[in-house]
Amino acid sequence: MSAPALHPLFTSHFDEVIARNPGEKEFHQAVYEVMSSLSPIAGRVPEYAQWSIMQRICEPERQIIFRVPWTTDTGEVQINRGFRVEFNSALGPYKGGLRFHPSVNLSIIKFLGFEQVFKNSLTGMPIGGGKGGSDFDPKGRSDQEIMRFCQSFMTELYRHIGEYTDVPAGDIGVGGRELGYLFGQYKRITNSYESGVLTGKGLSWGGSQVRTEATGYGTVFFAQEMLKEKGESLDGKTVVVSGSGNVATYAVEKIHQFGGKVIAVSDSGGYVVDEDGIDLKLLQEIKEVQRGRLTDYAEAKGGAVRHVENGAIWDVACDVALPCATQNELSEEHAHALVKNGVQLVAEGANMPCVPGGVEVFREAGVLYAPGKASNAGGVATSALEMQQNASRDSWGFEETEARLEDIMRDIHRNCVETADEFDAPGDYVTGANLAGYIKVADAMVAQGVI
Ligand code: GLU
Repeated sequence: MSAPALHPLFTSHFDEVIARNPGEKEFHQAVYEVMSSLSPIAGRVPEYAQWSIMQRICEPERQIIFRVPWTTDTGEVQINRGFRVEFNSALGPYKGGLRFHPSVNLSIIKFLGFEQVFKNSLTGMPIGGGKGGSDFDPKGRSDQEIMRFCQSFMTELYRHIGEYTDVPAGDIGVGGRELGYLFGQYKRITNSYESGVLTGKGLSWGGSQVRTEATGYGTVFFAQEMLKEKGESLDGKTVVVSGSGNVATYAVEKIHQFGGKVIAVSDSGGYVVDEDGIDLKLLQEIKEVQRGRLTDYAEAKGGAVRHVENGAIWDVACDVALPCATQNELSEEHAHALVKNGVQLVAEGANMPCVPGGVEVFREAGVLYAPGKASNAGGVATSALEMQQNASRDSWGFEETEARLEDIMRDIHRNCVETADEFDAPGDYVTGANLAGYIKVADAMVAQGVI
């Protein structure tokens, strides 16, 4: 299965990206995905060409790489690599998460930063795009080790960030605990309580209600809107959610609130199938409190639950599939299995979890498909709400904040649908999301001149 072709006007730009960023395959993949859906505007907007918007959009404004030394509990010195890629500030301060995972490298951070630019544009909030992280592996590390690592990471990062400059948040491996240690160190070094410098903070020290839940909830709000468009809803649907971290957990919660049933979730050790519907309380107890594995879930539930160690969660038949784990987790073969088993809708909770060939399989089979930059934008949108509350020294209630999130997801959905219609691609959320996201950033770049 081949990915869509590039418009001839873009081929030299893409070749330039490859030549300038050798070996960065995830970054190439993300750039190709966006460029290949921009054909409808390739020749239509001469000022974009005049101002070299495409070439500038593919080149991060700033890339920072730094050493992160820290000491283990047994006194050993460890060295990790830290990254912050400040991709685009046309719409606001750089905004995007920090990922701590052994797979992190410059290519992964650049693909995530690139995606973030268009995602943040789609939210309609005044935020630019960036991403950061480290190849540090938090698995098996003590609280003290995590704290020392976070403090060392922030000891370099602090000079590059700020409420009006760059506002990091969490991503894989960075949750409330890590953000606490990072914020504490920032505050100590700068001697200022600058709440708006990070988002995803704890509720008692400047955080926003619903931020923890927002990516998972938002993905489900988006899926519900897609189904509504077809006169349907999540009520009564069986759902498979990959992952069992923050995004997956709150996607499960919202699906159950909407009357759907999540029958499978996964982690790096395999997946569990619970035909009665995933027990959210138990999942949270194991994953968030005990920081345990899904085998513990199966054990706690006894024989009623099936744990599969090797194999793909996408073999489980379902109406709706939400990939909420990590990039390229859903292959072309997995897409075929889902289609064969009658999947109706796929909405990405993670960033770029479906390989390009998999997306083509869904498109050709007429499966409703939402790219992460649209469907998982609820997390960063709620981060922007947190920035808004910090700027006005205010805090809103849970219901009010959730209602705002739901409105934002509805607006993103509407924008995707209307943009796809406008460019003769009805029902194509990839075209809708990429064009709507790109045009807003490109227009701002044209207005701001060559910088
Ligand atoms: N890491 C999340 C994302 O991929 C959230 C970023 C943020 O809140 O800044 O969008």
